Amino acid sequence: MANILNSPGRYVQGAGELSKLGKYAEGYGKKALVLISRSGYKRIGGSVGAGFVKTGCSTVFDYFNGECCKSEINRLTAVMEKEGCDLVIGIGGGKILDTAKAAAYYRHTPVVICPTIASTDAPCSALSVIYTENGVFEEYLFLPSNPDMVLMDTEVISKSPVRLTVSGMGDALATYFEARAVLAKDGLTCAGGHGTLAAHALAELCFDTLMEEGVKAKLALEAGACTPAVEKIIEANTLLSGIGFESGGLAGAHAIHNGFTVLEECHSMYHGEKVAFGTIAQLVLENMPADELEDIIGFCIDVGLPVTLKELGVEEVTKEKIMAVAVAACAENDTLHNMPFEVTPEKVCAAILAADAYGKYFKGI
Ligand SMILES: [Zn+2]
Repeated sequence: MANILNSPGRYVQGAGELSKLGKYAEGYGKKALVLISRSGYKRIGGSVGAGFVKTGCSTVFDYFNGECCKSEINRLTAVMEKEGCDLVIGIGGGKILDTAKAAAYYRHTPVVICPTIASTDAPCSALSVIYTENGVFEEYLFLPSNPDMVLMDTEVISKSPVRLTVSGMGDALATYFEARAVLAKDGLTCAGGHGTLAAHALAELCFDTLMEEGVKAKLALEAGACTPAVEKIIEANTLLSGIGFESGGLAGAHAIHNGFTVLEECHSMYHGEKVAFGTIAQLVLENMPADELEDIIGFCIDVGLPVTLKELGVEEVTKEKIMAVAVAACAENDTLHNMPFEVTPEKVCAAILAADAYGKYFKGI
């Protein structure tokens, strides 16, 4: 089995870059379907549209219907066929971006991804998550290639809700530890091979960047300021974590996150918030040294990521509920089996309960 690294064809990050999108886009196509939400169009549609004037690429703007589902993807591919679009651009949050990737895949065109938030590690990946029209998970669409370009306008992203960027830090917190576990197991990554030195170096840099810049970035964002720390965190959340997870591999943290989706009361929590708690539980499973565990939990407390079950939305903790989470996390096709030792639902249940106890201890409650 080969060592494989997946990455987007190009990654561009900077303040005001969305207004230059037209210039970048003309390198990929002559007529772009631009998928955006109605509110997104109101906020930034004017400056994006103006950036296409006098370029070799024209645009067809279309409003996203709210769900990344087959009917929406079919609707958009029909628009592309009718209008003769040879490029798809998605501007917005995760579902818009996944829909844009899927539409481009079915029409065999390039795709440019422009996230307006930095809340997950998904934008750079060769993956779309498809839901039913009612928003229930349907399937993972594994794509043959990553987006041709990912463009992050840090001015726009720094104006998004702070909780979203903090949640992205939670998603990014897992990257290094999951990649490290997969390496120890000699397991396979989402890129379909073993990890590379490059992916591991990026995963480690992702972690170091969070520790160094995370608190500074959170405080700056709360003050409405886009600082160098904010820029570094946006890159860590998106590029470093994106390549790190896809080409370094997933293990305990994301599987435990998936386990928590069985609890209705956790549904209002963001992906990265649940992944952060899953990371702490993974570290408990690995019996990480006490001082390192204290550093990680302290980081979560400082940036505002949940460290207790109550903060995750679990009002009343019972052994039955946590065991249900643990059983789901150990599902046969999930990534908990990438841990380098045998993991049972009993062990996961114990790790979650202990993680909750440590969280309470370090919070002093
Ligand atoms: Zn994730």
